[in-house]
Amino acid sequence: MSLNSKSILEAYASILDQKVIDKLKKKAAKFKNKSVLHVNATKFGGGVAEILQNMVPLMNELAIEAVWKTFSAPDSFFEISKKMHNALQGNREIHFTDKEVSDYFEQAKSSYDQIKPDSDFNIIHDPQPCPMIKSAEDKIGKWIWRCHIDTANPNPQAWHMISDSLSRYDALIFTKLEYAEKAPHDLIYQIPPSINPFSLKNKDLPESQAQEIVKKYVPLDLPIVTQVSRFDPWKDPLGVIDAYRIVKEKNPIRLVLIGSLAHDDPEGVEWLKKVKDYAKNDPNIIILSNLDGVGDIEVNAFQRLSTVLLQKSIKEGFGLTVTEGMWKKTPVIGGNVGGIKLQIDDGVNGFLVDTIEQTAEKILYLLKNPKKAKQMGEAGHLKIKNEFLLIKHVERYLDLFETLTK
Ligand code: UDP
Repeated sequence: MSLNSKSILEAYASILDQKVIDKLKKKAAKFKNKSVLHVNATKFGGGVAEILQNMVPLMNELAIEAVWKTFSAPDSFFEISKKMHNALQGNREIHFTDKEVSDYFEQAKSSYDQIKPDSDFNIIHDPQPCPMIKSAEDKIGKWIWRCHIDTANPNPQAWHMISDSLSRYDALIFTKLEYAEKAPHDLIYQIPPSINPFSLKNKDLPESQAQEIVKKYVPLDLPIVTQVSRFDPWKDPLGVIDAYRIVKEKNPIRLVLIGSLAHDDPEGVEWLKKVKDYAKNDPNIIILSNLDGVGDIEVNAFQRLSTVLLQKSIKEGFGLTVTEGMWKKTPVIGGNVGGIKLQIDDGVNGFLVDTIEQTAEKILYLLKNPKKAKQMGEAGHLKIKNEFLLIKHVERYLDLFETLTK
């Protein structure tokens, strides 16, 4: 929500056709005063927290009693759940010991006891709290499991730990239907995530203000190429540095890697060190995190002022950073995987790449063809406006509620 605007819907009316807003209001009217509970593992860091902090106020404005709760868990649980995340995304070498399996289920019981979901719609996000439904003996309200990761080829043991609980849910939501191929359920929905165009991270910024912000961290005398991502192997930060090294031989640039250290991501610190070591004190590789004071407004400024944005993921459930970059009309080069493919139409509103060499080639192309880069940025903005703004996301949830209450 814009900090100055009284109403989120009013703000949307300034960028979208009024018909879109009226349609949403009409759908929401059926769920007036209904309660909606979102549960996930953390209030800080990563895409899910980003979505929920924006979605709850919009649902509230539509007179839906939405709340967002997280559960507390020991750090050791987040080690297990991160392993789970990697295993569900396809790492078959991971094995969970009996103790890890039992700790995982114990935590789910504790999470249930902490929250006791009893809303009309209980939306449980991601694998960490998924089995809490097993503790709900007399299930109250409808329960929906919302999976944000790419589970198309999961590690069998990890999938078994999850799939046991899935049939108890009333519906499942995946970002892409292909992630749900193994899910034992009749009601599976494809609902991609979204961004809030009025948040600090996405709102319009005058260029001069963006420059002032970016200048604090990086001089503006060379083109900036940026990847905003958790420090994580799936985001391929080392591949990004390799691509930068190819580009800089032909065209001097600065590479900025921005990554927050999320509370539920113990690998982050280790990977931040790996990335720093790999950058070998190159003064034109700037590595920043929330610990350097890089928060939402700074991310916003970097996404606007960069000549090219990268999201060179090897696996990516959706990739909100892609959405954010496209919304800001900056051309985005993304890994040719998962949810990035829902967003980037290769060669039209960005580029999809499979290799480091291709990444370098497309960066060079965009540096050398500013007119084309601008056109791609415009096309990217339009795609996000039509498909991936929060207002559309809420509408898709309302459609699901409607189906579940029929
Ligand atoms: N993000 C951020 N600061 C950072 C790194 C990431 O604010 O240093 C935000 C980013 O802007 C996006 C979210 O965290 O909103 C990451 O979501 P995405 O879907 O790209 O990846 P995930 O972290 O969920 O795998």
